[in-house]
Amino acid sequence: MATTLSSRQEQLLEALRRAGRELSGQDLHACLRASATPMGLATVYRHLRQLQQWGRVRCRHLPSGEALFAPTERDEHHLTCVDCGQTHRLDRCPVHALELNDEELRGYLPLFHTLEFYGLCPDCQRRQRRSETEVGEVAGQATPSPSV
Ligand SMILES: [Zn+2]
Ligand SMILES: [Zn+2]
Repeated sequence: MATTLSSRQEQLLEALRRAGRELSGQDLHACLRASATPMGLATVYRHLRQLQQWGRVRCRHLPSGEALFAPTERDEHHLTCVDCGQTHRLDRCPVHALELNDEELRGYLPLFHTLEFYGLCPDCQRRQRRSETEVGEVAGQATPSPSV
């Protein structure tokens, strides 16, 4: 891709690469505050949006609504508890070998993919089972709502 990044965008991308983990906009903002060229939170988000549009950065949302950013070249997927928000990185990409055929691509240029798994962690399952027995009836369905 021949997209030329501005120095601020390079700076953000570098910070994400160096971090080795996903960062929120706030994290990035804090991370750059110590640097020679700090940038305001709104600027951070504006550049992140642009980096997303160019397929350089991807974002995933935690059940809390918090958005986490990572460079797209890092092929990572997570398992997240819809209750407590605890999240684990998968050791492998389950869809690495998966490719769309030309018909499915409809002329799109593929850049990256995302895939997230949501569930209930062992702790939350235990807690829910406990509260069910306390109430003496099934407490109805948990309604996971990964807000966007
Ligand atoms: Zn949990
Ligand atoms: Zn993957």
